[in-house]
Amino acid sequence: MKKLSFVLIAISFLLMVNCDHQPTEFSINDLRNDYVNLKNSLVSEIEHFRGKPFKRNITIYVCSSDEYSRLITENTTSVEAKKRQNDILICEGLLHKGQDYFGSQSSALSNETAGFYKDGTDSIFVVVKDATKKMSLDDQSVIFHEMIHALQDQYYPLKSLLASDCSDQYFAKIYAIEGEAELMSTNYLFKIYYGSYQDQATVMSYFSDAEIEVERMLDSMHLAGNALVVSQPMYWMYYSYGPEFINAIVNENWLLIDNNIFSSMPLKTSEILHPSRFTNKRELLLDVNTLNNSIDSSYVIYDVDEFGEVLLCTMLREWDNNSYKVIADGLDADKAIVFRDAQDDSLRFIWYTLWENETKSTAFFNSYLPLVQKKWGVTLPDAQSDLSGRMFVNDQKNRLYIEQDSTHVFTIENYSPESLQGWINQLRGVKSYVRGIAKEKQGKKYPVFIKKRLVRDNITQFI
Ligand SMILES: [Zn+2]
Repeated sequence: MKKLSFVLIAISFLLMVNCDHQPTEFSINDLRNDYVNLKNSLVSEIEHFRGKPFKRNITIYVCSSDEYSRLITENTTSVEAKKRQNDILICEGLLHKGQDYFGSQSSALSNETAGFYKDGTDSIFVVVKDATKKMSLDDQSVIFHEMIHALQDQYYPLKSLLASDCSDQYFAKIYAIEGEAELMSTNYLFKIYYGSYQDQATVMSYFSDAEIEVERMLDSMHLAGNALVVSQPMYWMYYSYGPEFINAIVNENWLLIDNNIFSSMPLKTSEILHPSRFTNKRELLLDVNTLNNSIDSSYVIYDVDEFGEVLLCTMLREWDNNSYKVIADGLDADKAIVFRDAQDDSLRFIWYTLWENETKSTAFFNSYLPLVQKKWGVTLPDAQSDLSGRMFVNDQKNRLYIEQDSTHVFTIENYSPESLQGWINQLRGVKSYVRGIAKEKQGKKYPVFIKKRLVRDNITQFI
């Protein structure tokens, strides 16, 4: 995936090169020929750059902005499925009441996508915003970026690489996939501006600046009230943090990226933000099967998710916690479960989080009550009773239970009083495993949770 305005902002900001072209009369057919010629000329360059050949020919299609907007909006997600997903995101605190994830996502993609690769098709699509303008230098780097995706797909089918994971894993993999494409296409951009590929330090200083710029932009978007928590920030961050991750992993021989990254993908976003965790394989997994299996039959599991560092960071920022980075980077593992009460259709939210140390878990514990009050739009009274944790109940249905014990914190939101003690008992029994040990200990495959299919249901492409 390649975002137009990211390229424009980043390039004008960092390279200080003005790439304006005088508008000239060009039809979309003229542009099509230009793009096809460029694609043909880039094949051998990318093969050399990436150190492996294309297995199949790549086809390039040019579409107008209007055509692309229709493609985005004409998806098959039903109205009911969209409502369900929005309800889940609101319950989890990733979306504000009344917001529509899908509308925000479509809008962002329509406005900002410059090109995309459709997985499994060997086909690149270019989205032309203005057919009167000739192909720009930035447009050329978009083709390079999408061709890297095409090459990735020919060696490691992207669709299967991303299948059947919960969301934090999905995001971690997307960061790696986009990171490689962006790292390489950015150096190509340097080449077309300056005439030659640049050294590692030059390219990486670009991404350090890009991270700062993206964080600044997300903060200002938030302050301006553009609360597109899930749909927007994620996209921007792929292109600044992903390349940093790839570079860190292949620091010794960075132009010939080790294929092992794609055969052993990162599985948590914390590995992206802290690459040493990828190399050290310190990831923890949680076993919450007992909780899933023991709930009262009047409850239905609506969604099981893993927030991970990036989503937690995003959520804390969204609810005005200025320490979002410091708090989120202490998260070791988590599992979020949304239940639906079959009797009145209301949603309950249980979130088990495991932290690096007690200081980190305390920081999260202290930040959560204000967050929930903002999310619910209520002021909860002081904690009522303990049950070892803290229970906040107002006069209406809003009920929050938080419990911390050294490195874990769990929260139960909107619980019914009858079910509380049972859920507390189950959550106290949650076990954690280091990756790899889980299968061995349990003698079975680690459970595959319901994947939050936010992106792939709607858009099966890599921009
Ligand atoms: Zn991409």
